[in-house]
Amino acid sequence: MYIRRIRTLEMAAWWLSDQLYNLALLIRQGSESLTLHRLDDPSPTQIIDNILNYNRRATQQPKAPVTATYIAVVRCMDRKLDLSRIFGDLKFVDDIANPFGAVRPHIIEALKIAVLKHGVRVIFLLEHTDCAARSIAESAEAETYPLTTAAVSQHEKHVGTLLSDPVIDGAIRNQQLAVVRGVIVTDTDELIQLWSFDPTSDHWQPFHHPAQAAHPASVHLHHPGRSKHGAGEIQGILAREPLQSPND
Ligand SMILES: [Zn+2]
Repeated sequence: MYIRRIRTLEMAAWWLSDQLYNLALLIRQGSESLTLHRLDDPSPTQIIDNILNYNRRATQQPKAPVTATYIAVVRCMDRKLDLSRIFGDLKFVDDIANPFGAVRPHIIEALKIAVLKHGVRVIFLLEHTDCAARSIAESAEAETYPLTTAAVSQHEKHVGTLLSDPVIDGAIRNQQLAVVRGVIVTDTDELIQLWSFDPTSDHWQPFHHPAQAAHPASVHLHHPGRSKHGAGEIQGILAREPLQSPND
């Protein structure tokens, strides 16, 4: 508590915790699960053995109590994204990953469960730069991956359905929930182009954060979003286009 009141102390604490975290990772590279990446062409059996060894050792430690989960995120399964660089400890996050980070009917239901039963107060709908799933949907490969292509093209429609859902709409109007969309810069994990939905005006509003104003993102993206009841047309994310409202 005290440390949070003094900015310099807080930043020093962050720096120290980052160093300790890196040290912990180094130590853990001696453990089974994290040496996986050093195995040369591991067989499925080797991988499962590693996991079981790691799991046996991990379960010798007491399990941390379940804490509140205030965040749910729908995002692309692209393994280049490091969500711990956005949300910190993912124990506190309902993390829903799929190709593109598409909102689909079963994901809307999952988000309603997250809000009603997990106490989630912010839903992040995140796209990211250089998304392979989006590229697939816009290329000749679309025929090979018809479900992913459909998920990308119907994303905006389902975002509209999510926002119209009585549970979600009611929670936003009661100020118990915010739905935020944005873009992750894949190379850095920086969150840019954040918008939160305002049910009163039925529009997405830009979300301004002092840190973002001080360090404007180097890339600007053409946000593919539409208004809540958008037509779901696919628009490519084009680098270095001016910021555009998802309401357009
Ligand atoms: Zn992607």
